Amino acid sequence: MALTTQCACGATVTAEDEEGFLAAVGQHVETTHPDLAGTMTREQILGMAERT
Ligand SMILES: [Zn+2]
Repeated sequence: MALTTQCACGATVTAEDEEGFLAAVGQHVETTHPDLAGTMTREQILGMAERT
């Protein structure tokens, strides 16, 4: 089951599984929104995911 989310900045982040999604979102936040890095819990990040 793939996970996808559209960030507030318009970027779409997708991954094949939860671990990959957490890593992809974490990387997106670190590179694009460094002020938000580390502010979201695993549960919050997974809660944003749309599962397809
Ligand atoms: Zn973003």
